Amino acid sequence: MSPVIPIRQEAASGCGAPEVLQERGQREVFCGLTGIIWLHRKIQDAFFLVVGSRTCAHLIQSAAGVMIFAEPRFGTAIIDERDLAGLADANEELDKIVHALLQRRPDIKLLFLVGSCPSEVIKLDLSRAAYRLNAQLGSNVRVLNYSGSGIETTFTQGEDACLAAMVPTLQAPVKPGKRLLVVGTLADVVEDQFRKLFNKMGITEVDFFPPRHSTDMPLVGPDTEFLLAQPFLADTARQLEALGAKHIPAPFPLGAMGTTAWLAQAAKVFGIADNTFEATIDAPQKRALQALSKHRVELNGKKIFFFPDSQLEIPLARFLHSELGMQLSEVGTPYLHRRHLEAELVQLPQDTRIVEGQDVEEQLDRCRQDSPDLVVCGLGLANPLEAEGFTTKWAIELVFTPIQGFEQAGDLAGLFSRPLIRRLKLVA
Ligand code: SF4
Repeated sequence: MSPVIPIRQEAASGCGAPEVLQERGQREVFCGLTGIIWLHRKIQDAFFLVVGSRTCAHLIQSAAGVMIFAEPRFGTAIIDERDLAGLADANEELDKIVHALLQRRPDIKLLFLVGSCPSEVIKLDLSRAAYRLNAQLGSNVRVLNYSGSGIETTFTQGEDACLAAMVPTLQAPVKPGKRLLVVGTLADVVEDQFRKLFNKMGITEVDFFPPRHSTDMPLVGPDTEFLLAQPFLADTARQLEALGAKHIPAPFPLGAMGTTAWLAQAAKVFGIADNTFEATIDAPQKRALQALSKHRVELNGKKIFFFPDSQLEIPLARFLHSELGMQLSEVGTPYLHRRHLEAELVQLPQDTRIVEGQDVEEQLDRCRQDSPDLVVCGLGLANPLEAEGFTTKWAIELVFTPIQGFEQAGDLAGLFSRPLIRRLKLVA
């Protein structure tokens, strides 16, 4: 029996967004440790020490192995049988590992102790461990902790937990004055493009969080207005609001329309004149529209099915539908933060089947029944679905690839059109 239950009726209450269905059952999603792969590339003086099992170590290494580019800034302190059996003092062993690591790697300025399923099972209190290590290490390095365990988090929630752990360390600005904070990991190239656009329209006090270096943490206070660059940062946003920062509601910067609307919301809050805003975005917006037009030929009218994975599904569905003319078969998402996604949801057709959570077998049945042209799913489902004749796109690529902003709009569309072109070639 399908456990799909309609739980939210906002569409009926007049906000214009489709109904959201909720599903509970077996899930096929990575755990939050996966976020380390992009977070360690972003914060260049941080180290992520997973306190976990060999399984956790294998997960990170195989996910990172595809794109490893420098000396890793992550590792695993292995919890072995002696720790699990309570024969060793796990705290003592962890302290030894941390001291040895910092002695070998003096470049580390921020150390994250990342909890996992095994550390939760043996009830290793990593917040106390971080507190103890901070007292031992002095001001040379800061130790923070968060959980990336599969019991508590899925995939991109790891980034949310990591950023939320950093927020309490942020200082308030000394001088008053409105500041813009862009929240969520973006590729450096995307960050530079956005900074340029904000500066050009006259917003000069702009910070990005997480920063590239732990020594450049943004200043946050009641004068801070923040834009989310990613849709999966509910806890981080809550923590920032607790410091007095204000969220700027906006769609996410995917595609030409998404990026325009995202920038426009910031411009409005900062009182930028319409003609200044339009002059700023004119050229890059035209480039984005032109880049998209090439892919529209391939994607227009094609049916797409999203399995829940990265929490990017709703903004992606909006982009693919409204900017490229794709039909939405089902949009699955592990979690849906209503407030942060409101501006996206109202742009989806009212009959879109949005499913929060997952019962993988039920969802596979619906996918087979819908027979979509393209399926976006995790690695574990992609191969079996390809074997059944479906064309798939790995959801993880959408997190690892720079996709935000005007200049990346064409690349983002290409991630969806390429598998279809490849399939056509194979058939031919
Ligand atoms: S944290 Fe849990 S789900 Fe993630 S790799 Fe380790 S054991 Fe597996």
